[in-house]
Amino acid sequence: MILKNANILDLKTGTVQTGMDIAITGDTITAIGVELHSDDKDYRDMSHRLVTPTFTNGHTHLGMAMMRGYGDDFALQTWLETKIWPFEAKLTSEDIYWASKLSLLENLYSGVGTIVDMYDSVGYVVQAGRELGMKGLYGKGVMDLSGDGDKKLQRFVKDYTTYGNANQRVILAPHSVYTCSESFLKDCLELGTTYGGVLHTHVLETEKEKEDFETAHGMSVVDYFGELGYLDVPLVAAHCVHMTERDINTVKGCPFIPVHNPVSNLKLGSGVAPVGRWLGEGIDFLFGTDSVASNNNQNLIKELQVGTLVAKNAWGPETIGSLDMLRRAFDFGDVLGFNHGGVDVGKKADLICFDLESLHFTPANSLLSALTYSADIGDITDVLIDGEYKVKDRESCFDDEQVRYEVSTRTRRILNEV
Ligand SMILES: [Zn+2]
Repeated sequence: MILKNANILDLKTGTVQTGMDIAITGDTITAIGVELHSDDKDYRDMSHRLVTPTFTNGHTHLGMAMMRGYGDDFALQTWLETKIWPFEAKLTSEDIYWASKLSLLENLYSGVGTIVDMYDSVGYVVQAGRELGMKGLYGKGVMDLSGDGDKKLQRFVKDYTTYGNANQRVILAPHSVYTCSESFLKDCLELGTTYGGVLHTHVLETEKEKEDFETAHGMSVVDYFGELGYLDVPLVAAHCVHMTERDINTVKGCPFIPVHNPVSNLKLGSGVAPVGRWLGEGIDFLFGTDSVASNNNQNLIKELQVGTLVAKNAWGPETIGSLDMLRRAFDFGDVLGFNHGGVDVGKKADLICFDLESLHFTPANSLLSALTYSADIGDITDVLIDGEYKVKDRESCFDDEQVRYEVSTRTRRILNEV
């Protein structure tokens, strides 16, 4: 396949190359150049398109799609205990499959090709991901509040063996320090490094979490993770809103991947993550949406834009630059190890095409600026993952109507039960 005459965003330099042909063989970009010759008849003219890598969504709970708009105006703990957990208790595995599919489609239509998820019935989430071809670290979310931690860990090993593969990697995701005991966290670390190799958790989402933990343990959550050994392994850490300067120095140089979840943090009134300091220390963070219950959608473009604005507000307009933020949104540093995050020869053909003839890209003073501040979902014409079209000429390659029907009817059933 050849994408002809494309405008390519080069994330190494922040420049745009025009009139370039992109050759894709199988799942990989195999050549980029001017007027590439090929016998390949499968080509499309991309003269008025900007081609970028797909976005990476570093933290979500795909299976929560049915809880969109269910209890919007609560603080985190009350919201979890009175609304979310009782609703989740009614979800069947099939409900989670359909909810995940809906969330994945939303991700896809905002240009996301890779996700990091945390949810209980990981097999059903992976099934949805595999059918749509969405890559990711599919985390089995676990906690041991009800004392059945051992059973959950056994189940994780089974899920890892049964459902994991190279593109849908099953990992272990202990929920947080306030829902997991110390001995359970130790077991999670041992199992999670043996199976999956990366762990995913929530870190310092709220001021309350920080204060309660420090009162009870006499140390910071980050130091605690360090003591347990969590800072020696790749750890995708959602939120990290209340990291202190000391915490940032502690994680510097560790395989610690913070996730900036600005919309969810704003909605729950949790604050703004220290993005300016992460950038200052050269830390490769990711953007994440969190679930639709606390966001309320899966739109990485919105996350990039809001996340950049709140960071500018907190750290100053000159500290936060478009290129730095775009690199994180695209996982330019390849912190997840999927060999994506750049339109380069040898990289996977995970690509978004933006319509440069849209109003949001006019005039074309700066395409970096347009992507960061004015682009919208409607400007996306094509999304490819592993060289396969998932969205083509603004048309979905999937049956959205069936997904909508299943999620709507199943949600009505649960609302009658709770
Ligand atoms: Zn979360």
